[in-house]
Amino acid sequence: MTPVRIGAPAVQHLDGQTIVDATIDTEGAAYQARFRVSHGAAAAGAEPFLAGALPVAMALGQSLRVDGLVSPQLLTNLPSIQAIYHAWNPSWRMIPVWAQPAQSEAPGGRGVACFFSGGVDSFYTLLKHRDEIDTLIFIHGFDIPLENTTLRTRVSAAVGEVARAFAKPLIEVETNLKAWLIRHAQWEHAHGALLAGVALLLAPQFARIYIAASDSYDMAVKHPWGSHPLLDPLWSTEHTTIVHDGCEFTRIGKVARITQSEIALRWLRVCWENPNNEYNCGRCGKCLRTMVALRFAGALDRCQTFVRPLNVAALARTRLFNNQSYVSSYLEAAERAGDRVLVRALRDNLSGRYRRGLRPLAGRLRQWARRNAVRATLIIKGSPSATAAPRRKNA
Ligand SMILES: [Zn+2]
Repeated sequence: MTPVRIGAPAVQHLDGQTIVDATIDTEGAAYQARFRVSHGAAAAGAEPFLAGALPVAMALGQSLRVDGLVSPQLLTNLPSIQAIYHAWNPSWRMIPVWAQPAQSEAPGGRGVACFFSGGVDSFYTLLKHRDEIDTLIFIHGFDIPLENTTLRTRVSAAVGEVARAFAKPLIEVETNLKAWLIRHAQWEHAHGALLAGVALLLAPQFARIYIAASDSYDMAVKHPWGSHPLLDPLWSTEHTTIVHDGCEFTRIGKVARITQSEIALRWLRVCWENPNNEYNCGRCGKCLRTMVALRFAGALDRCQTFVRPLNVAALARTRLFNNQSYVSSYLEAAERAGDRVLVRALRDNLSGRYRRGLRPLAGRLRQWARRNAVRATLIIKGSPSATAAPRRKNA
């Protein structure tokens, strides 16, 4: 069987940016994978591409050959990374990986960074390690398709405002790797590898990089997820430690804490559906459950990025999570708070009673159409990035 092959990475500097390319050959097709770094140095090794390609090679059941140097520590950890992926998803096979270990890896930088999307998890981690973290990292091509330049520009400006408010530099990394990755592997399981790839790309600048947790420990032990407390640290190298941070709280707990920050209330961004390129639509499941958590914290009125009031009827009928068992913790919190309006709506939501029948079906179809509008446009244009649907569990 033809192995997945990563060509030797090429680094170039252009207009103050650093661009790293490598060709990945899969089943006879070559993909020019690229990272573009807005500021500072980027790694010349193959680790960023290895991270992105490993889930694909496992999903295809093909060996992986790497023409480039890889951290010996990361090579040592690859069997454990594969074992975790395989345990979560048995159709992903354990595969041989051929790569040349780096003889003497260049010393990494001494900085400390965190990935920052503007969401609850990343605001929580930033605030928690505010004194230690000296740089924010935002990835273009992760939750917003690269082709959606309107929303991308808007979000980039917002994240820049947050960085300025905290007086920390912002590094923006653009990558086209997701488009290739999701053609072959489930995004739910693979997205952490892309985060790890960007962390490894920035290893020359940072000794430690935080990845904000999506789940609390009690849920993380029950539910596989591509960025995970078991998995993320295994992507670390001799010089750069990758830390999965924030499992000590549920999202309700995190929301309560970030509402103490006026900056978070000014810029919080959670929506992944973004109908009409809205910053937070206030109607999708993720927006609604965040608004509920803000209401628990008594901060919904102060959060400037939700412009519509909480629609309780929509809360009762909208699917809030792919895994609806998460709704129980919101219902329990509403009961503890004595919020009878939310208790009723969340009970109805959990029962699914308003998601049956023709009218809810029409609503779900509208929601599906909104979610797929950008992708549909891309399909018409023939873009390969439109061939698989990214989904989020609860982030
Ligand atoms: Zn939304």
